[in-house]
Amino acid sequence: MALVQLTEPQEPTAQQRRFAVGIDLGTTNSLVATAAAVDNDRPEVLPTATGARMLPSAVYYQQDGACIVGAAALAKRQQEPHQVITSVKRLMGRSAEDIGSDYHYHYRAEEGMVKIITAAGDKSPVQVSADILSTLRAQALAASGEAEVAGAVITVPAYFDDAQRQATKDAARLAGLPVLRLLNEPTAAAVAYGLDNAADGLYIVYDLGGGTFDVSLLRLSASVFEVLATGGDTALGGDDYDRLIAQNVAQKVLKSLPAATLSDADWLRLTAAARVAKEALTTAATATVVAELEAGVCECEISREEFNAWTQALTVRTIACCRQVLADAEVSATEVNGVVLVGGATRMVSVRAAVADYFAQQLYDHINPDEVVALGAAAQADVLIGNHRGESWLLLDITPLSLGLETMGGLVEKVIYRNTTIPTEKHQEFTTHRDGQTAMRIHVVQGERERVADCRSLATFTLSDIPPLAAGLARIRVGFQVDADGLLSVTATEKTTGVSAGIQVKPSYGLSEEEFANMLQAAYTHAHDDLQARRLQEAVNESEELLQILDKALADADSAHLLSAAERARIAAGLARLREALTQAQLAEINAAKEHLQQVSAEFAGRRMNADIQRAIAGKKIDDIGQ
Ligand code: ADP
Ligand code: MG
Repeated sequence: MALVQLTEPQEPTAQQRRFAVGIDLGTTNSLVATAAAVDNDRPEVLPTATGARMLPSAVYYQQDGACIVGAAALAKRQQEPHQVITSVKRLMGRSAEDIGSDYHYHYRAEEGMVKIITAAGDKSPVQVSADILSTLRAQALAASGEAEVAGAVITVPAYFDDAQRQATKDAARLAGLPVLRLLNEPTAAAVAYGLDNAADGLYIVYDLGGGTFDVSLLRLSASVFEVLATGGDTALGGDDYDRLIAQNVAQKVLKSLPAATLSDADWLRLTAAARVAKEALTTAATATVVAELEAGVCECEISREEFNAWTQALTVRTIACCRQVLADAEVSATEVNGVVLVGGATRMVSVRAAVADYFAQQLYDHINPDEVVALGAAAQADVLIGNHRGESWLLLDITPLSLGLETMGGLVEKVIYRNTTIPTEKHQEFTTHRDGQTAMRIHVVQGERERVADCRSLATFTLSDIPPLAAGLARIRVGFQVDADGLLSVTATEKTTGVSAGIQVKPSYGLSEEEFANMLQAAYTHAHDDLQARRLQEAVNESEELLQILDKALADADSAHLLSAAERARIAAGLARLREALTQAQLAEINAAKEHLQQVSAEFAGRRMNADIQRAIAGKKIDDIGQ
């Protein structure tokens, strides 16, 4: 990310200012903020109808089709746990098979897409998010007295893939919010802190929310930020701490209660009580988990030490993610100048201690960690809407995974590498595999591995009407373009005719919870095997091409006179040896057989080429005469 600030000569007057908002569409809580409605230019959170700063990301649908969003929806959870939709962000852009079974509300799959079953009918995750966004929009208008939202910057986790980003944009459109752009949450936090006024150096943004953990490494130099690497875990957050408290309390206490098995509703109550206790432990040495369960009241005092012991493994996992990000960027923890804390869960004493201990650097924590993302988004929205004309901020993010194409033999050719700053555009030339090939299948994949089978398939499309040419002669230029929101467009153009085809990647499903982390991990674990597999596949591809060319040449009656019987026999033996080597799939033998065949056929190939050239020249003359 680069953050370039240029001072502008004149500020627009109050009347000229347009109302733009920043929205943190959180898994647990959502916020809306603006920098346009206040005099001192500082972004401010716009409160809910009841005066709260955060809107719980919870939606309750009524039979008549109306919906309740926020704290009032959450309150319905006690009586009707299945009817209150929370953490819908986790379902955005996901296929039914990608998501786990730990959702307390009911959903079903329709053509692979998730449909949440509610009293008002089936709802897609995009529709539910749209209802949250509509509420935020109404809240922003009511709090500011403005008539319309001119534009919104909506934040998404750095890990969100194309499908998840697209789903977020769709939800905004449904809610009637014009999206100025999507912004990575850690990037927004850096903007809120205005770290561009800080000393040059490296900064970490550590964001532990309710359901997700994101970490980003930013480099600041001469007031410009660049994201060097991002990482995290989409299935790790404050909720997991609640769950561990609930489980441990259940073990400790429930033996004394008549019924040891808990209903779903019991677990919800216990987890909610655990969350209250967790938050209390941030300021107190002990807290009591009090929950009214079906079998009776559960009351259990827990100490900060117990809590730390139960949840230490979670905190350690966040530090492991930090270590990975530093390793990706080849930076050591001691080189980091400061750490920005984001997300309500970073209030936990044990988390702060672990972060402070690992980085041993200044913690940036004076802005409310719940609000910092929305405030940064609001600042950015204010610039993008044009309230600071001349003061242009250019924010660049990075691609979290490499993007590439399937090539011969199921190999991946990476076009845009992981951690490339976006927006970005890369082009590469490809060619046809067979003589007279008039169509080409373009298969776009995402991931770090060498083989298509080990990467994630994003989209396929076909470029047709390629002029029929000999294999390897057509020139197909493939362009990959990733826009500022991280959305990918791919185009393929045949260079002589200009025919082209393209696709906006909008896959119908997203990565599963652990898939992202697994994909990265697997890339490291299998790096050696992958390289071997790639070399083998490349040798196979080259061999098959050689076999194809020689088979064709030997069958060509015009070339028969160019070849002695002995030479023909040597080439035939070489062909047989290479075919046999291919069935054994041993790299060394394939290469040896291929080189041998190239040697014994080299003179024949040379004679054939000369004959071709002579024929071509002769043909040309006849044409010339004909004219
Ligand atoms: P999200 O980004 O997922 O919407 P937030 O940044 O709002 O999440 O963080 C929500 C999490 O922060 C919840 O797990 C909540 O329990 C936790 N949290 C909020 N306040 C505190 C506190 N005082 N102590 C510990 N955890 C807290
Ligand atoms: Mg958050």
